[in-house]
Amino acid sequence: MIITIDGPAAAGKGTISSALSQKYKLAYFDTGMVYRAVGLQMVLDGKDIKNEEQATEIAEKLTFPQMISLSKHPDFRSGIGSNAASVVSAHPKVRAALLNMQKDFANKPIFADGTPAAGVVYDGRDTGTVICPQADLKLFITASTEVRAKRRYDEYIAKGMDASYENVLQDMIARDERDSNRSTAPLKPADDAVIIDTTDLSIPQVLEKVVALVEKIC
Ligand code: C5P
Repeated sequence: MIITIDGPAAAGKGTISSALSQKYKLAYFDTGMVYRAVGLQMVLDGKDIKNEEQATEIAEKLTFPQMISLSKHPDFRSGIGSNAASVVSAHPKVRAALLNMQKDFANKPIFADGTPAAGVVYDGRDTGTVICPQADLKLFITASTEVRAKRRYDEYIAKGMDASYENVLQDMIARDERDSNRSTAPLKPADDAVIIDTTDLSIPQVLEKVVALVEKIC
Protein backbone atom coordinates (compact mmCIF):
# COMPACT_ATOMS: atom_id res chain seq x y z
CA MET A 1 0.00 0.00 0.00
CA ILE A 2 1.31 3.45 -0.90
CA ILE A 3 -0.08 6.62 0.70
CA THR A 4 1.12 10.14 -0.16
CA ILE A 5 0.58 13.11 2.14
CA ASP A 6 1.19 16.62 0.86
CA GLY A 7 0.30 20.05 2.24
CA PRO A 8 1.84 23.23 3.65
CA ALA A 9 4.30 23.34 6.56
CA ALA A 10 3.02 22.45 10.04
CA ALA A 11 -0.39 21.33 8.79
CA GLY A 12 0.05 17.97 10.53
CA LYS A 13 1.53 15.89 7.67
CA GLY A 14 4.34 14.48 9.80
CA THR A 15 2.07 13.50 12.69
CA ILE A 16 -0.47 11.84 10.40
CA SER A 17 2.22 10.11 8.33
CA SER A 18 3.96 8.61 11.32
CA ALA A 19 0.66 7.55 12.93
CA LEU A 20 -0.41 5.82 9.70
CA SER A 21 2.95 4.15 9.21
CA GLN A 22 2.76 2.72 12.73
CA LYS A 23 -0.87 1.63 12.50
CA TYR A 24 -0.52 -0.08 9.12
CA LYS A 25 3.14 -1.18 9.53
CA LEU A 26 4.33 0.89 6.58
CA ALA A 27 7.71 2.53 6.07
CA TYR A 28 7.76 6.32 6.35
CA PHE A 29 9.61 8.58 3.92
CA ASP A 30 9.71 12.21 5.00
CA THR A 31 10.80 13.71 1.66
CA GLY A 32 11.36 17.17 3.18
CA MET A 33 14.47 15.60 4.72
CA VAL A 34 16.23 15.29 1.37
CA TYR A 35 15.83 19.02 0.69
CA ARG A 36 16.67 19.95 4.28
CA ALA A 37 19.84 17.84 3.99
CA VAL A 38 20.95 19.55 0.77
CA GLY A 39 20.03 23.02 2.09
CA LEU A 40 21.78 22.54 5.42
CA GLN A 41 24.89 21.08 3.77
CA MET A 42 25.04 24.22 1.59
CA VAL A 43 24.77 26.44 4.69
CA LEU A 44 27.41 24.42 6.58
CA ASP A 45 29.75 24.60 3.59
CA GLY A 46 29.26 28.38 3.44
CA LYS A 47 27.71 28.16 -0.03
CA ASP A 48 24.98 30.38 -1.47
CA ILE A 49 21.71 28.39 -1.32
CA LYS A 50 20.55 30.18 -4.48
CA ASN A 51 23.40 28.63 -6.47
CA GLU A 52 21.66 25.83 -8.41
CA GLU A 53 24.86 24.22 -9.74
CA GLN A 54 26.48 23.89 -6.31
CA ALA A 55 23.24 22.66 -4.71
CA THR A 56 22.87 20.09 -7.51
CA GLU A 57 26.41 18.83 -6.89
CA ILE A 58 25.51 18.18 -3.24
CA ALA A 59 22.14 16.62 -4.20
CA GLU A 60 23.78 14.22 -6.67
CA LYS A 61 26.07 12.88 -3.96
CA LEU A 62 23.48 12.73 -1.14
CA THR A 63 23.16 9.33 0.56
CA PHE A 64 20.66 8.09 3.18
CA PRO A 65 23.36 7.85 5.93
CA GLN A 66 24.50 11.44 5.21
CA MET A 67 20.88 12.63 5.39
CA ILE A 68 20.35 10.85 8.74
CA SER A 69 23.55 12.34 10.10
CA LEU A 70 22.56 15.90 8.99
CA SER A 71 19.10 15.41 10.52
CA LYS A 72 20.75 15.41 13.97
CA HIS A 73 22.09 18.94 13.46
CA PRO A 74 20.21 21.57 15.56
CA ASP A 75 19.51 23.66 12.44
CA PHE A 76 18.02 20.80 10.43
CA ARG A 77 14.49 21.71 11.59
CA SER A 78 15.12 25.33 12.61
CA GLY A 79 14.16 28.37 10.53
CA ILE A 80 17.60 28.20 8.88
CA GLY A 81 17.11 24.60 7.71
CA SER A 82 13.49 25.23 6.64
CA ASN A 83 14.43 28.30 4.64
CA ALA A 84 17.41 26.58 2.99
CA ALA A 85 15.21 23.56 2.08
CA SER A 86 12.56 25.81 0.59
CA VAL A 87 15.15 27.65 -1.56
CA VAL A 88 17.16 24.63 -2.81
CA SER A 89 13.99 22.63 -3.51
CA ALA A 90 12.93 25.29 -6.04
CA HIS A 91 15.94 24.44 -8.25
CA PRO A 92 14.75 22.03 -11.00
CA LYS A 93 18.17 20.33 -11.24
CA VAL A 94 18.19 19.65 -7.49
CA ARG A 95 14.74 18.04 -7.72
CA ALA A 96 15.85 15.97 -10.69
CA ALA A 97 18.98 14.80 -8.83
CA LEU A 98 16.89 13.67 -5.84
CA LEU A 99 14.05 12.08 -7.81
CA ASN A 100 15.26 8.48 -8.15
CA MET A 101 16.27 8.23 -4.50
CA GLN A 102 12.65 9.04 -3.58
CA LYS A 103 10.91 7.03 -6.33
CA ASP A 104 12.99 3.87 -5.78
CA PHE A 105 11.93 3.68 -2.16
CA ALA A 106 8.40 2.63 -3.23
CA ASN A 107 9.83 -0.46 -4.98
CA LYS A 108 11.75 -1.60 -1.91
CA PRO A 109 10.38 0.12 1.20
CA ILE A 110 12.29 -0.53 4.43
CA PHE A 111 11.93 0.50 8.06
CA ALA A 112 14.62 2.59 9.78
CA ASP A 113 16.31 -0.64 11.00
CA GLY A 114 16.54 -1.99 7.43
CA THR A 115 13.78 -4.62 7.63
CA PRO A 116 11.42 -4.75 4.62
CA ALA A 117 7.99 -3.07 4.81
CA ALA A 118 4.79 -3.89 2.91
CA GLY A 119 4.35 -0.32 1.74
CA VAL A 120 5.19 3.28 2.40
CA VAL A 121 3.73 6.57 3.56
CA TYR A 122 5.35 9.43 1.63
CA ASP A 123 5.24 12.85 3.23
CA GLY A 124 5.97 15.91 1.10
CA ARG A 125 5.54 18.08 -1.95
CA ASP A 126 4.69 16.43 -5.27
CA THR A 127 4.75 12.94 -3.74
CA GLY A 128 1.28 12.23 -5.20
CA THR A 129 2.05 13.76 -8.59
CA VAL A 130 5.73 13.19 -9.45
CA ILE A 131 7.22 10.74 -6.93
CA CYS A 132 4.36 8.28 -6.71
CA PRO A 133 1.46 9.04 -9.06
CA GLN A 134 0.42 5.37 -8.70
CA ALA A 135 -0.27 5.79 -4.93
CA ASP A 136 -3.35 4.04 -3.53
CA LEU A 137 -4.40 7.08 -1.50
CA LYS A 138 -3.35 10.74 -1.82
CA LEU A 139 -4.04 13.19 0.98
CA PHE A 140 -3.57 16.96 1.10
CA ILE A 141 -3.50 18.13 4.72
CA THR A 142 -3.89 21.86 5.30
CA ALA A 143 -4.81 24.43 8.01
CA SER A 144 -4.93 28.21 8.36
CA THR A 145 -1.56 30.02 8.39
CA GLU A 146 -2.07 31.28 11.98
CA VAL A 147 -2.88 27.82 13.33
CA ARG A 148 0.12 26.29 11.54
CA ALA A 149 2.43 29.04 12.86
CA LYS A 150 1.14 28.43 16.40
CA ARG A 151 1.77 24.68 16.06
CA ARG A 152 5.32 25.24 14.80
CA TYR A 153 5.97 27.83 17.54
CA ASP A 154 4.72 25.37 20.21
CA GLU A 155 7.05 22.69 18.78
CA TYR A 156 10.06 25.03 19.05
CA ILE A 157 9.17 26.00 22.62
CA ALA A 158 8.64 22.35 23.61
CA LYS A 159 12.15 21.60 22.31
CA GLY A 160 13.53 24.45 24.43
CA MET A 161 14.36 26.53 21.34
CA ASP A 162 14.31 30.31 21.38
CA ALA A 163 11.35 31.49 19.23
CA SER A 164 8.80 34.26 18.83
CA TYR A 165 5.32 33.58 17.43
CA GLU A 166 5.48 36.68 15.25
CA ASN A 167 8.76 35.56 13.62
CA VAL A 168 7.46 32.03 13.07
CA LEU A 169 4.30 33.46 11.48
CA GLN A 170 6.27 35.75 9.17
CA ASP A 171 8.57 32.85 8.16
CA MET A 172 5.52 30.69 7.49
CA ILE A 173 3.88 33.37 5.31
CA ALA A 174 7.12 33.83 3.34
CA ARG A 175 7.63 30.07 2.90
CA ASP A 176 3.98 29.50 1.84
CA GLU A 177 4.29 32.30 -0.68
CA ARG A 178 7.53 30.93 -2.11
CA ASP A 179 6.28 27.32 -2.12
CA SER A 180 2.94 28.25 -3.75
CA ASN A 181 4.21 30.64 -6.41
CA ARG A 182 7.31 28.84 -7.62
CA SER A 183 7.18 27.27 -11.06
CA THR A 184 8.92 24.06 -9.94
CA ALA A 185 6.73 21.76 -7.82
CA PRO A 186 4.38 24.43 -6.48
CA LEU A 187 2.29 23.70 -3.38
CA LYS A 188 -0.83 22.29 -5.03
CA PRO A 189 -2.95 19.18 -4.32
CA ALA A 190 -2.90 16.30 -6.85
CA ASP A 191 -6.15 16.25 -8.87
CA ASP A 192 -7.18 13.01 -7.16
CA ALA A 193 -6.09 14.01 -3.62
CA VAL A 194 -8.51 14.12 -0.69
CA ILE A 195 -8.18 17.57 0.96
CA ILE A 196 -8.44 17.69 4.76
CA ASP A 197 -8.50 21.06 6.56
CA THR A 198 -7.22 20.51 10.12
CA THR A 199 -7.69 24.11 11.35
CA ASP A 200 -10.46 23.20 13.78
CA LEU A 201 -9.63 19.54 14.26
CA SER A 202 -7.61 17.77 16.95
CA ILE A 203 -5.04 15.14 15.97
CA PRO A 204 -7.39 12.25 16.97
CA GLN A 205 -10.18 13.80 14.86
CA VAL A 206 -7.91 14.08 11.81
CA LEU A 207 -6.68 10.54 12.33
CA GLU A 208 -10.23 9.24 12.52
CA LYS A 209 -11.00 10.79 9.12
CA VAL A 210 -7.78 9.50 7.57
CA VAL A 211 -8.12 5.96 8.96
CA ALA A 212 -11.67 5.79 7.52
CA LEU A 213 -10.18 6.62 4.09
CA VAL A 214 -7.40 4.03 4.42
CA GLU A 215 -9.85 1.33 5.53
CA LYS A 216 -11.72 1.80 2.25
CA ILE A 217 -8.62 0.79 0.26
CA CYS A 218 -7.39 -2.02 2.56
O1 C5P B 1 8.18 19.16 4.83
P1 C5P B 1 9.29 20.07 5.27
O2 C5P B 1 8.84 21.25 6.08
O3 C5P B 1 10.41 19.32 5.93
O4 C5P B 1 9.90 20.65 3.90
C1 C5P B 1 10.82 21.73 3.89
C2 C5P B 1 10.71 22.43 2.55
O5 C5P B 1 11.24 21.56 1.54
C3 C5P B 1 9.29 22.78 2.11
O6 C5P B 1 8.93 24.07 2.54
C4 C5P B 1 9.38 22.71 0.59
O7 C5P B 1 9.83 23.94 0.09
C5 C5P B 1 10.47 21.69 0.34
N1 C5P B 1 9.97 20.37 -0.05
C6 C5P B 1 9.77 20.15 -1.39
N2 C5P B 1 9.36 18.90 -1.80
C7 C5P B 1 9.15 17.91 -0.93
C8 C5P B 1 9.34 18.13 0.44
C9 C5P B 1 9.75 19.39 0.86
O8 C5P B 1 9.92 21.05 -2.21
N3 C5P B 1 8.76 16.72 -1.37
